[in-house]
Amino acid sequence: MYEIHHRIGGRSTPSTSGRTAPVYDPATGRVQATVGLASVQEVDAAVAAAQAAFPGWRATALSRRAEVMFRLRELIDANRKELAQLITNEHGKVLSDALGEVARGLENVEFACGVPHLLKGGYSEGVSAGIDVYQLRQPLGVVAGITPFNFPAMVPMWMFSNALACGNCFVLKPSEKDPSPALFLADLLHQAGLPDGVFNVVQGDKVAVDRLLEHPDVAAVSFVGSTPIARTIYERATANGKRAQALGGAKNHMLVLPDADVDMAADAAVSAAYGSAGERCMAISVVVAVGEVADPLVDAISARLPAIRVGPGTDPDAEMGPLVTGEHRDRVIGYLDAAVGAGATMVADGRAGPLPAEGFFLGPCLLDRVTADMACYTDEIFGPVLSVVRVGSYAEGLRLINENPFGNGTAIFTRDGGAARRFQYDCNVGMVGINVPIPVPVSYYSFGGWKASLFGDRHMYGPEGIDFYTRSKVVTSRWPDPTTSTVDLGFPQVR
Ligand code: NAD
Repeated sequence: MYEIHHRIGGRSTPSTSGRTAPVYDPATGRVQATVGLASVQEVDAAVAAAQAAFPGWRATALSRRAEVMFRLRELIDANRKELAQLITNEHGKVLSDALGEVARGLENVEFACGVPHLLKGGYSEGVSAGIDVYQLRQPLGVVAGITPFNFPAMVPMWMFSNALACGNCFVLKPSEKDPSPALFLADLLHQAGLPDGVFNVVQGDKVAVDRLLEHPDVAAVSFVGSTPIARTIYERATANGKRAQALGGAKNHMLVLPDADVDMAADAAVSAAYGSAGERCMAISVVVAVGEVADPLVDAISARLPAIRVGPGTDPDAEMGPLVTGEHRDRVIGYLDAAVGAGATMVADGRAGPLPAEGFFLGPCLLDRVTADMACYTDEIFGPVLSVVRVGSYAEGLRLINENPFGNGTAIFTRDGGAARRFQYDCNVGMVGINVPIPVPVSYYSFGGWKASLFGDRHMYGPEGIDFYTRSKVVTSRWPDPTTSTVDLGFPQVR
């Protein structure tokens, strides 16, 4: 058993609130640590440390801020395995997945290394006699990040890389389910030369989040998590005059047209539905099979499932780890019998195993003949459950996707470029894959869904992240020709 603390003003700070939460090892089901949950005063201390560090960090030369990011890049690269092990230890995902998470997070640090270029504003010379107009991009001040359990290193990197490079100070409230990777990143930031107080971690739950949302010195809030919480975070943060971006849940559909390469589509569906035990906001949870492709596709997916090895994340042969908690695993299981009761066909039941004796495991589950009124279709399950909905035409499949309240990611599988092009035009979804099942944008684009998958007008990271973490100031200046100057400038000039 170990205790997990805050990191405030560069120091490891134990909570004195008297409130704690258990941190499980999902592979054994046992509690391995406790995390102290912040009181209002502890959040205030973190915000005060960030506020005190802000004038100095803001005034730090751009080249020096970029240098910290370059050093951080090297440190994360050198510590990939340690960070991945921490992720696996508390989240449960297999090590190869955790390494993938680190790699995708690191991209954002690399993007932020280009901050001197990214912060360039515009300049208009001579808009009128002696008058120039130019734009500055200045940091907001203290900004907060509230992150989910499923990417305990990557999602913080989505946020803090750009925020810090732009000159802001940061207070991170990670998920209480897997709080250690955030502290490891704080340590690497310190080693990279970031001054104390510029990056702080407060462990906590709703109490900490509520305080961040109302704290007068917090200028902006970035949130990633489930839709109901995202909606309230956005509403409350903006009601308190803060800038906010709140990314919510998902129900990602993969539309498979009759001309698709069935093996390619089946491989994609399996990796996108069951990778990380389905606990990804970009996981495919619904396959929409158009016309005669349905039977061969369901057969091809089902034939691949027995080969998926379920086991502890530390087992190098395991491809799918446990779910994050026993409570969550039981919630996921609850959808299976309900779906069969509502008329779906259970093609694969992940409860049947083989599964490790301990831990929060569930094998891959495949439901066929799912319809849009079933709970397994309407709800975000966030587990290894793939539903197949059979439709008669492209138009019917598209309608399903566009009528769904979520709009995070979607994918089309087809050999027809015209059909793919039409789909990217037609679908009301923020991130689209064409023969790519999980179209998470590279770090020099921005990440964000539409509809109930994102509240706010700025997507996360990339160019929109730079916009989010800076405010624009436009200067109009008049410097008439210095005809009366005491400095000899060679006037009057010949023009
Ligand atoms: P969650 O909404 O339960 O928690 C997210 C964060 O909010 C955590 O830090 C948690 O401590 C805090 N929180 C929880 N309840 C709260 C409350 N009542 N008031 C204030 N704060 C609260 O989400 P989760 O279970 O950690 O993560 C899974 C969810 O995140 C899924 O819905 C998934 O789709 C979503 N997600 C979305 C994206 C995206 O980019 N859109 C990315 C990753 C995860």
